[in-house]
Amino acid sequence: MGRNVKLTLILTFALLMLSLAGRADERKQLAFDTIDRNAAQIADISDSIFYFGELGMQEFESTRLLKGTLEAAGFRVDLGGAGMPTNLWAEWGSGHPKIAIVTEIDALPGGSQKPLAFARAPLVPGAPGHMEGHNTHGGVASGAAYAVKQVMRRYNLAGTVAISFGPAEEQIASRPFIVRAGYFKDVDAIIYLHIGPVLATGYGLQNYAAISAIFTFHGKTAHGAINPWDGRDAVDAVELMDIGFDKLREHLHPSYRAHRTITNGGIQPNIIPDTGQIWWFVRDASMPDAKATYDKLVKIAEGAALMTGTTYDVKYAASAWPQLVNRSIAEAIQKNIDTVGVPAWTAEEQAFARDFQKFAERPMVGLRTKPEALGGRRQSASSNDNGDVSWVVPAGLLNFPASVPGIQYHEWHAAVTPVSSISHRGQVAGAKVLAASVIDLLTRPDLLAQARAEFAVESKQTPYFSLLPADAQPDIGLNRAEMEKYRPAMRQFYLNKTPRFD
Ligand SMILES: [Zn+2]
Repeated sequence: MGRNVKLTLILTFALLMLSLAGRADERKQLAFDTIDRNAAQIADISDSIFYFGELGMQEFESTRLLKGTLEAAGFRVDLGGAGMPTNLWAEWGSGHPKIAIVTEIDALPGGSQKPLAFARAPLVPGAPGHMEGHNTHGGVASGAAYAVKQVMRRYNLAGTVAISFGPAEEQIASRPFIVRAGYFKDVDAIIYLHIGPVLATGYGLQNYAAISAIFTFHGKTAHGAINPWDGRDAVDAVELMDIGFDKLREHLHPSYRAHRTITNGGIQPNIIPDTGQIWWFVRDASMPDAKATYDKLVKIAEGAALMTGTTYDVKYAASAWPQLVNRSIAEAIQKNIDTVGVPAWTAEEQAFARDFQKFAERPMVGLRTKPEALGGRRQSASSNDNGDVSWVVPAGLLNFPASVPGIQYHEWHAAVTPVSSISHRGQVAGAKVLAASVIDLLTRPDLLAQARAEFAVESKQTPYFSLLPADAQPDIGLNRAEMEKYRPAMRQFYLNKTPRFD
């Protein structure tokens, strides 16, 4: 080959790579422009869901709004699948690659709070509310998926973009059912989406496996003074189960966690109780380890029943695999994080954050001005039921900066900012990184192949099994009474908006 020919080939190749890279940038730029143009719509969705303040399995208004918005944007929406009326799946496009955004939109009991008020001021006293900020997931996931759709159309990209809004994440109650129903069978990769105080991703095991089960003992009632010898005390069995597990604790691996609450401890002292109930959570760093401890817990229940002459039954309540996050996908997400960056917070936003931190007696560090570097996250002992999804399909993870650092979730402080400008601008940054990362997964077969190879190794080391008993059905009555009690008073705060993307 002549020198000139070689040079020409090299030049042609370089130009081709440049134009491919340029094209990738061009696609992402279109997604970013779409998201900027729809920032108000994204905020309207998230703010509307904030004021709905719906508990798990009762996300009726929230999913109605999302269904309307996504259908108007051309998505096919499947509401009510896997036996849960508020389970929402939306998708656009066809065939592979099929990339899904996985998230949730439920609120928490007692979380009602007036936005931006530092002092405790419920909108409706006692009512539920968004004291974690799951409301923001609605706007970010929908806005990002819409932007991806616009890019797929403009550039004629093959594949499908999907969103899974799973019910009742706060009670880790739905994902095993969604997995069992087969929603992820033909999905090539997913990205978990969750609010945070930071713009970050991670890889490896992110949190813990959990199994929640309710043990009910059945005995025989009798008068506590006149004929106690005729009784078989179900609460004795509850106590012995508790003591039995305490004896086991010494012999478990230090990574385990187990906690319980006695949900039925009898009626009054002079009645021998014929029913006693204790609700357990067992956790560990891996599901096989959590399951091993759980199996021992069941043996202890058997022993307690034997000692007291009672019988028992056990009801599966919930379970969650630890989230397994794929390193290849994390690296792709990190590149987009570094491109998009955190919002340029205004002096007012920084001052607000510091004042709020001072009020809440947290370090006055303000808002983060840089994204997190990749790789610094430790496995948390908490659990999220979307972990199950990551054992059947390669998963990435994205946290977007829409809350104030140091303000802990699950307390009312965290309900002060989900509809603030900090949240809104953090949502825009999150939607951009999310859209760009979905575009990477749709357009880079090398990335998807790498992710799949990594997943094949990890899922072979610990093969997925469902914790669901064969006859288990989702608890769709969960939180119904609580929600019905407060919804009428909460309606006055509904925004009554109809967000439409353009
Ligand atoms: Zn959450």
